[in-house]
Amino acid sequence: MKYIELVKVYEELEKTSGRLDKVEILSKFLKKTKDLEDVVHLIQGRVFSRLDERKIGMSSRLVLKVISKVIGSKVSEVEKKWRKVGDLGKVVEELKKKQSVLFSKDLTVGKVVENLRKLSELEGKGSIDRKIGLVVELLNNAKKGEGKFIVRTVLEDLRIGVAEGVLRDSIGKAFDVEVEEVERAYNVLVDYGKVSEVAKEGKINKVKVKIGRPIKVMLAVLVKNVKEAFEAVGKPALFEEKIDGFRVQVHKGKEVKLFTRRMEDVSKQFPDVVEVVEKNVKGECILDCEIVGIEGKKHLPFQKISQRIKRKYDIEEMSKKFPVELNVFDIMFYEKSLIDEKLKDRRKIMKKLVKEIKGKIVLVKGLESKNVKESVKFFEKSIKNGLEGLMIKNLNSKYKAGRYVNGWVKLKEVLEPLDLVVVGAEYGKGKRSGWLSSFDLACKDGDKFLEIGKVGTGIKEKTEGVTFGELTKKLKKLIVEDKGRNVKVKPELVLEVNYEEIQKSVNYRSGYGLRFPRVIRIRRDKSVDEINTLSDVENIYRKQKGGK
Ligand code: AMP
Repeated sequence: MKYIELVKVYEELEKTSGRLDKVEILSKFLKKTKDLEDVVHLIQGRVFSRLDERKIGMSSRLVLKVISKVIGSKVSEVEKKWRKVGDLGKVVEELKKKQSVLFSKDLTVGKVVENLRKLSELEGKGSIDRKIGLVVELLNNAKKGEGKFIVRTVLEDLRIGVAEGVLRDSIGKAFDVEVEEVERAYNVLVDYGKVSEVAKEGKINKVKVKIGRPIKVMLAVLVKNVKEAFEAVGKPALFEEKIDGFRVQVHKGKEVKLFTRRMEDVSKQFPDVVEVVEKNVKGECILDCEIVGIEGKKHLPFQKISQRIKRKYDIEEMSKKFPVELNVFDIMFYEKSLIDEKLKDRRKIMKKLVKEIKGKIVLVKGLESKNVKESVKFFEKSIKNGLEGLMIKNLNSKYKAGRYVNGWVKLKEVLEPLDLVVVGAEYGKGKRSGWLSSFDLACKDGDKFLEIGKVGTGIKEKTEGVTFGELTKKLKKLIVEDKGRNVKVKPELVLEVNYEEIQKSVNYRSGYGLRFPRVIRIRRDKSVDEINTLSDVENIYRKQKGGK
């Protein structure tokens, strides 16, 4: 199929705002397209399936170079334009308009996918030039409209406003299957490309959970207190310890495979866990677990073992230095798929299959309760013991892969907001171009300001509350250093910020980072001398770990 046909659909989708209209456009296109799997990936702005670990991995900097080569102008010129327009896709389109194309071949979907996939394979000496060459080739052949979307695809930022829901509904409509079916298939296959293929073949009902292929994990919404938890999941509920490690899906078939929540295969990084599972889990099954670092009897915070996840060498040594315990809390397959069974029945099977060995593999502890007082006590005790909170589960709930539903909720300690000062910012893209849209926050340590995170949420585009326009206006007056899209500002503007958690972080000079930060308001009443200090941050961090 010619790439231009897809580009026409991108353009239509880009200028259509109504959800139903988008579904109409996309479903018609999916129905007739031949390269269905590739097209579905491209519509999502990717060239690989979600289960594929390869990445295009090209930075905006490199794309700037590509464009300057194609246009034959200086990188600084392209960059200037980029600052103004905020979208390298549009930049290439505008600059190319001025060129006359002499010889060009028609681009096909196949060719675009082929070149972009190659980008992920090139490594080592001379690879940068070859990468540039692959994209230059595409852009040189690009006709009106194509360049914009090639660049955006390379940057993995397509901006056609097709959220997962629109794609899901479009597949349903195109191949005449219920949306719930599409969603169920997706949560098992984790790839809309494959889902669309099975839908087209009329085999969507035949999609099954299979050992060796990760499924989406079940997720939980945050509640404020035990009462809310009961309202969400009903009575009695299972109050389970929330372990601060990282999620793994253990697939025990002929061999044992471990997948992270984002479907990355980490079996090689955890040979110790693989061995423990081989020896202590009966039968072929899929288990939902949390891996946590352990020292003696004590669990360690996630940061202690996070380095093991990406480690490629000295793995044996790492597993001795940072031992871990596998905490099992659910089962999704044993002899058959169990995702449509009730939690209480799944747990019975899980208990039969797992042989517990303290420090190596254990079942997560919990309390079944219908009583608010008793549950609050359990929560408080858990926090005191250093847990980050509880997971509260409906005992009759099915395993809802990939969904935030009220089958599971999570309860954590409420943390006080922080007053932090803005020390830098980044210009936005797309709708937010022209505004500063991401803000570097810092706390105080003596007379130093130490970064603790970036925030871009909680700020409005239009009126009401804190707006990007207002922050940009205030900060522009404070700029002390201008580095392309990033600026440093004099520490003056104080923001009150909420967050879900404080984590240790090597990315920020304070040594801490905020998880899900959100601006509440500008603290006009506070000067920069009165903002929170590093020691406040340390105190909250310790408190959230139960005083340890
Ligand atoms: P959060 O990361 O704060 O959104 O909390 C959800 C995460 O807690 C899950 O994705 C798991 O990785 C983790 N977790 C820890 N203990 C449990 C448990 N008992 N049941 C389910 N998830 C758990």
